[in-house]
Amino acid sequence: MQIAQDTVVLIHYTLTNDSGEVLDSSAGGEPLAYLHGNGNLIPGLEQALVGKATGDKLSVKIEPEDAYGAYDDDLVQQVPRAAFRGVPDVQVGMQFQAQSNLGPRLVVVKEVAGDTVTVDGNHPLAGQRLSFDVEVVGVRAATEEERAHGHVHGAGGQH
Ligand code: ZN
Repeated sequence: MQIAQDTVVLIHYTLTNDSGEVLDSSAGGEPLAYLHGNGNLIPGLEQALVGKATGDKLSVKIEPEDAYGAYDDDLVQQVPRAAFRGVPDVQVGMQFQAQSNLGPRLVVVKEVAGDTVTVDGNHPLAGQRLSFDVEVVGVRAATEEERAHGHVHGAGGQH
């Protein structure tokens, strides 16, 4: 069976950045299971997998616009220290859930200077070109329920 819209796909993958640093990998663990064509993977990776079958291996380089998007300077904002009520010691690298026009968004603290905290709402991989080494280890048709939910059930899936 070939990978197409609404197939359940199992892959092993290793994700590296442009410097060759491994950012994520399923090696040594369970393969990733996802429902194809439902926005569960970044667009560039889904496109590369269309038509592949069990046993196929591929290496793809994905530009930021087909991965986690370009880095957006507008998502870097300065907020008053007082906005972090209940956090006694705000430090660089801390992550917070912030409210934005587009709903809740994860931001990371970039700088703390006096009463001003600079936070960055970009995805950690925004603006990066990503390389995936992928092996397809299974393809099956999705159940009706999986299609309705837009994700995989059972081993390796969510509910
Ligand atoms: Zn479900």
